[in-house]
Amino acid sequence: MTATESLITSRNPADPSDVLLQVQAPGAFAAVDAVERARAAQPGWMLGGAAARSAALGSVADAIDAAATELTALAVREVGKPLAEARAEVARTAAIWRYYAQAPYEPVGAVHETAAGPGLLLTRRRPHGVAGLITPWNFPFAIPSWKAAPALAAGNAVVLKPAPEATACAGRLAEIVQRALPAGVFTVLPGGATEGNALVSSADAVSFTGSTAVGRAVARGATARGVPVQAEMGGLNAAIVLPDADIEQAAAHIAAAIAGYAGQKCTATSRVIAVGAALDPLREALSEALRAVVVGDPSDAATVSGPLINQHAREQVCDAWHGLSVLTGGSMPDGPGWYAAPTLVEKVPPGHRLLSEEVFGPVAALLPAEDVAHAVRITNSVPYGLVTSVHTADLNTVLCGLDQLDTGMIRINAPSTGVDFHVPFGGAKASSHGPREQGRAALEFYTSSRTYTLSPAKAT
Ligand code: NAD
Repeated sequence: MTATESLITSRNPADPSDVLLQVQAPGAFAAVDAVERARAAQPGWMLGGAAARSAALGSVADAIDAAATELTALAVREVGKPLAEARAEVARTAAIWRYYAQAPYEPVGAVHETAAGPGLLLTRRRPHGVAGLITPWNFPFAIPSWKAAPALAAGNAVVLKPAPEATACAGRLAEIVQRALPAGVFTVLPGGATEGNALVSSADAVSFTGSTAVGRAVARGATARGVPVQAEMGGLNAAIVLPDADIEQAAAHIAAAIAGYAGQKCTATSRVIAVGAALDPLREALSEALRAVVVGDPSDAATVSGPLINQHAREQVCDAWHGLSVLTGGSMPDGPGWYAAPTLVEKVPPGHRLLSEEVFGPVAALLPAEDVAHAVRITNSVPYGLVTSVHTADLNTVLCGLDQLDTGMIRINAPSTGVDFHVPFGGAKASSHGPREQGRAALEFYTSSRTYTLSPAKAT
């Protein structure tokens, strides 16, 4: 599935001979055109009022629920997401639209006393105009929705440029959303870098999720134009396990975070840091938990780890464990799909790419740490800082020992994977640029504040 030149081909990663669609990418002019049409539609959408926007977003949520079985099957087929996870993503997508359906009724400003004299100071948040959204393939319904729903709730129009690998999912989402909205308010523009770049050059605000290299280019392009931009990018996430942790539970959580959806989540765990005496029991328990992970056909309800998105991704993953000391995995199961076994390695030499680059597959390195401070130093030693999971029963460690962790999200006794859409989401360093996504933070990103000074018309 690639956007080679101008042809987008979307294939089933579990059976690459199954082509979902082949379409011509529309090109840069189409992106500019879509933004122009959205810009023309936006004032009507905003002036239509809070009740209309709330009702429209609510009806999108209902329509997603009604189409849940079909949408789930499409995500399984197009991006190889295991059935159980695809089902959960579709349910979460409906919940996201429902959550933001309340947002148009929320206060949009505040009233202040003037510093001197009679009158009032008012602040009021206003939409930017057209939000340009650029999204990856790994959450083909949830990520476009957690960007589009708050942007629309705040009164913006939206042009979404999905990843080429998720073109069919985005097209289906567009059908559902467009049925609930006035024409031109929500547009899906298929394509790759050309269309994405054109969107960055023409939208009034840009929200990106994807790899760090592309995200930084997007941030530079939008910043040069002076438009607001946020970029959620890669991760190289650690799980820290203390000796007092419930090792069996920690191993189960970490195995799920390494191997779930074949590790193709920005929040996946790829470094497992065992503190002191946790090392030996964790090595054993985690190896066993990973061996037990069901790898195979994503349409099978029991599957946890399906195929990688394409052949290139599979080669990257195999290259990552090549020549290392493999505790479990390290093989490529047969099948027409692009599968890779969940893999745990140890004794990884300093400077190895597993310790500095995101691999985006079901591979993790087991690393020993002398104490909590050492574990924190190892965690912080990479360019990324998205999420860290910590497994311990010690509240002191949680409250004090982890203060120096340079990651945007810290999950205690939980897998590194997992997102709550009503709270801010984002990381540190190369994982994020700009304001947070999700929750109320998203409503702030898609608006800017105006300050009104109200003075009496006639001096008394
Ligand atoms: P990608 O960077 O290859 O593509 C992301 C999007 O950017 C796609 O829509 C792509 O067509 C578009 N694009 C590519 N070149 C562009 C350019 N020059 N200008 C504008 N747009 C361009 O990422 P991907 O392979 O689709 O997704 C995997 C990556 O996404 C991983 O790095 C993963 O960590 C990251 N991700 C991050 C989060 C997060 O919230 N932090 C969530 C999911 C995925």
